[in-house]
Amino acid sequence: MSRTQPNIIITGTPGVGKTSHCELLATNTGLKHLSINQIVKDRGCHDGWDAEYKSWIVDEDKLLDSLEAEVPTGGYILDWHACDLFPESWIDLVVVLRTESTKLYDRLKARNYPEKKLQENLDSEIMQVLLEEAREGFDAEIVVQLRSDEVSDLEGNVERIEAWIENWKKDNSGKED
Ligand code: ADP
Repeated sequence: MSRTQPNIIITGTPGVGKTSHCELLATNTGLKHLSINQIVKDRGCHDGWDAEYKSWIVDEDKLLDSLEAEVPTGGYILDWHACDLFPESWIDLVVVLRTESTKLYDRLKARNYPEKKLQENLDSEIMQVLLEEAREGFDAEIVVQLRSDEVSDLEGNVERIEAWIENWKKDNSGKED
């Protein structure tokens, strides 16, 4: 299906700044912010609650079924700490946010993450697990890595993505079936 508006994934380790980026980007562009965590919870796309990790056990098939009537039409910003389950045909840009471990530690500590979950997320950021996942799941030319250390990074990143959206629209205008 051809789209008149792009779909963008904003991914990265929890605490890296996905929600902050998605909210500002949605406000500035009118694209719709889809918090996958919220959808998993609201639409029951899970097999229950993991008490140790304090998170839902996601049922990926249910999640994809629930998104497939909306997302392929375009105009969505998908906000999640995973990306490789989304079909390549749905996605035009994958933004992987990165931050320093000390900053991530402070942000997750402020959220009262259980120690084990906090350490696993720090390891995941250091090992650039999400970047590798994005590179394995999507064409290299649609995967971008951006720093999210300071508030000024957030503003700069959103401006950059807005410019990318404008170019995408120019490149894709007149392609509708
Ligand atoms: P995520 O959605 O990836 O878990 P959030 O957007 O909820 O991350 O951000 C986690 C915390 O870090 C929030 O308190 C937010 O204000 C802060 N934060 C996010 N991005 C930045 C940034 N680029 N610079 C400084 N603080 C940030």
